[in-house]
Amino acid sequence: MISVQSKSSSTNSNSNNIRKVSDKDIQRMNEKDRVFSILDNEVIAIDIFPKSNVFLVKCNWEECNNLQQESNKYAHLNINKKAKYILIDTATHGDELELIKQLDKVAGITPNDLSLILITHAHFDHAGGAWYFKKHYPHVPIACPEYEADLLRKGEGAPSVPAGISAKILKIRGDRKIIIPFEPDLTFWGGESLEEFGVKATLKNMKGHTEGCLVVLMDNKKAAIINDIMGGGFISYGKPAYHFYLYDKVEIVKSVKWAYEEGYQTFLVTHGFAFTREPLGPWLKKQIKKLKM
Ligand SMILES: [Zn+2]
Repeated sequence: MISVQSKSSSTNSNSNNIRKVSDKDIQRMNEKDRVFSILDNEVIAIDIFPKSNVFLVKCNWEECNNLQQESNKYAHLNINKKAKYILIDTATHGDELELIKQLDKVAGITPNDLSLILITHAHFDHAGGAWYFKKHYPHVPIACPEYEADLLRKGEGAPSVPAGISAKILKIRGDRKIIIPFEPDLTFWGGESLEEFGVKATLKNMKGHTEGCLVVLMDNKKAAIINDIMGGGFISYGKPAYHFYLYDKVEIVKSVKWAYEEGYQTFLVTHGFAFTREPLGPWLKKQIKKLKM
């Protein structure tokens, strides 16, 4: 059986940027406080449809300046270098205006304040609103996984298999379950840096939910934005879980174990509440045993 190693814990990390959370703090704080304390407003989750989050990651252009001078491979996109955030996913078709309203309410921004919109994978509740941004804010670049770009161009969803009874119960009105075709401005394989968009984070392709799914890993290790690679508790924080739809549990456990061992502090999911690494360690051990990995 493979074991779960930990390169760094929440109290001991090699990055200077991580706000240290002491053991004492952890005893005192509940999981929700812990998540917010670590993120410190660098990442904002906006719940658009009951427990369907999109994420804003704050730009820090000063921090990214060095790299921008060296490389400018996205110059043709005319990135807004004064943008305040990148947006991860665009929720379900029908909620476009609600999303724009929430951007204003939660962060005081309009879509014009975004340097990038990243679609993590070709599912209707992530890519459903993308066409609207493309149409009405054509200067804000939209990126998606290269693996799934053709599906999005055709307005098709990536295959994913219901993992259990909950997936069959979970129903969303059929007319909302669509992706309106759109042409992405750029595509990523995973491995790319987002520094040219003002955010010190790196993309990684994680399989198991869809083939092309991209996750956003903050370089300071505060957050791994893993969207649908996993789910979180629907009633409370601190409950790592499988997503309702997946095709390969082993791939998912392998990927998340990698992120855990890299020392990421919080794990942000689209459906359910975020969780920290503390409950994730025991969850991973349990799954590794169950799956006989
Ligand atoms: Zn999905």
